[in-house]
Amino acid sequence: MLDVKTVDAGLLQSRYRLTKQRAAVLRALGDGTHLSAETILERVRAEMPGVSLGTIYRTLDILREIGLVQVFSFGGIAARYEATLEKHHHMLCTDCRSLVNVRIDALGEIARAIASHEGYSEIDFAMTIVGRCAGCTKRAVTAAT
Ligand SMILES: [Zn+2]
Ligand SMILES: [Zn+2]
Repeated sequence: MLDVKTVDAGLLQSRYRLTKQRAAVLRALGDGTHLSAETILERVRAEMPGVSLGTIYRTLDILREIGLVQVFSFGGIAARYEATLEKHHHMLCTDCRSLVNVRIDALGEIARAIASHEGYSEIDFAMTIVGRCAGCTKRAVTAAT
């Protein structure tokens, strides 16, 4: 028979550890930027030195399931995470890889119309506008002259 007290203590302890890691990852993402798992690891290690990359990925998975973290991936670039609840889309600079959040309100209607035409339900969608950001465009123009 299970010792209820021991089980509870273990559960509490694991929950506490998880919560501590979750909180640290959310703090790392707190400035609203899109970070790679490696950058999150660096930031979390500043307050919890023993943390591994595997732990960061597991914690990010849990936070994604809860809906506190969103992941962005596109083409060959490394996945980037952000702590935001709002549905949004992205503009990606192909030169400096900077990511900007954009809202495209009309897209929902278009996506739903296409999906319903094909008989799809439970749809999700994400748009990525790829190009060269203002800063990189300016640098390219300066370099060319
Ligand atoms: Zn750029
Ligand atoms: Zn974003």
